[in-house]
Amino acid sequence: MDLRLSDADRDLQQRARAFTDQHLIPHEQECEDNDGLSEEALASIRSAVIEWGFNAINHSREDGGQGLDLLQQVLVQEEMGRATGALWDVPWRPAIPLREGTEAQKDEYLRPACRGERRDAYAISEERAGSDPTMVETSAKRDGDEYVLNGEKWHVTAGDIADFLLVHAHVDGDPAKPTVFLVDKDLRGVRVARIPKYTHTFVFEHPTFVLEGVRVGEEKILGEIGQGYDLTKEWFVEERLMIAARTAGAAARALEEALDFAREREAFGRPILSYQGVEFALADMAAEIASAKALLYRAAWEAAHGDVTPKRLHALSSVAKLVCSETAGRVVDRAVQIHGGRGYMREYAVERLYRDVRVERIWEGTSEIQRVIIGNELRKRGPEAFSGWPAGT
Ligand SMILES: Cc1cc2nc3c(=O)[nH]c(=O)nc-3n(C[C@H](O)[C@H](O)[C@H](O)COP(=O)(O)OP(=O)(O)OC[C@H]3O[C@@H](n4cnc5c(N)ncnc54)[C@H](O)[C@@H]3O)c2cc1C
Repeated sequence: MDLRLSDADRDLQQRARAFTDQHLIPHEQECEDNDGLSEEALASIRSAVIEWGFNAINHSREDGGQGLDLLQQVLVQEEMGRATGALWDVPWRPAIPLREGTEAQKDEYLRPACRGERRDAYAISEERAGSDPTMVETSAKRDGDEYVLNGEKWHVTAGDIADFLLVHAHVDGDPAKPTVFLVDKDLRGVRVARIPKYTHTFVFEHPTFVLEGVRVGEEKILGEIGQGYDLTKEWFVEERLMIAARTAGAAARALEEALDFAREREAFGRPILSYQGVEFALADMAAEIASAKALLYRAAWEAAHGDVTPKRLHALSSVAKLVCSETAGRVVDRAVQIHGGRGYMREYAVERLYRDVRVERIWEGTSEIQRVIIGNELRKRGPEAFSGWPAGT
């Protein structure tokens, strides 16, 4: 069994780390102080993204992306996840289902998005629909050659800077016809109802959108009528691996910060690192990160190189998201404790990470929903996806 990264993947990982250190982390305090970044700062990161080749890492070269496999994407996201303020979201990764578009849709949406000329946001959740998307009330009613969309979408991440939305709606209000529509934000009837404040400082906003009598042609349907859940699932499986990667990176950063702090900070005449109470907390953090990271890389390797069925990948990405996001919560909490009062100050990275990682247990499927998926796999196919190991030839 060879667990080593290839030279090319190792190089990619190191470049992602250098990019994060040079172009994301230096903007953390500005992002925290101003609840976002200035246009100037965003422009400078965006031009670095192009220069370093980190735009659209999740799309094919043919469509203008970097064509990275899922293990390579995990390596990049893990490093970028070390940055606070969700600065990892500035390097754009257009929504995965856009790859299912027609050539015309790709020319209009995906390819400009890969180049960084357009930006998308994914709008599924609503006031009464989150974990259970069958509760979606946004409807798309056919009227001649067009569809008329009505509804309200909550928590639309990056909706403030996006210029088009992927809207999950039920055709004719029928939950059996979940469908994704490409909706330009400047269409008549699309408006931001409000921009709520959230626990974290996120470089972009999560607005609530209202769609009132928004008319789109059938060429704006992504995939087919009724394919909405399949497209969303395709997004979830890959995005959950990326959440696992970013939370592994956030936890590793918290450990580095806490270790540095414990070496420097003195109490009762010696560095606090010399107290076993502190050292054991750091040891637990290190052990948990090592376990989570082993799982993450195994899941990402299977996704990229294994002979893995979509169902097994679904189960593995859920277990990776569950374990890595919950690990990050515990690790960051301990890092705050080791920092004492400074751990509660927003000018310290561990305080920001403490707020940042909380949502990772909620979005893209809560921890409970990941357990539902894992339980489902156990009931239907047994424990092989989790306790088994892929065989070589
Ligand atoms: C900052 C932020 C950004 C977001 N960005 C986006 C976005 O860009 N696009 C988008 O569409 N959505 C987005 N979301 C929404 C997010 O995906 C949902 O909040 C999440 O899926 C949970 O849905 P909910 O909030 O409606 O909670 P609910 O579904 O109401 O769940 C409430 C509680 O019940 C539990 N629960 C529900 N069902 C079960 C079950 N079967 N078994 C056990 N427990 C269960 C949940 O785990 C949770 O603890 C975002 C949310 C946040 C906070």
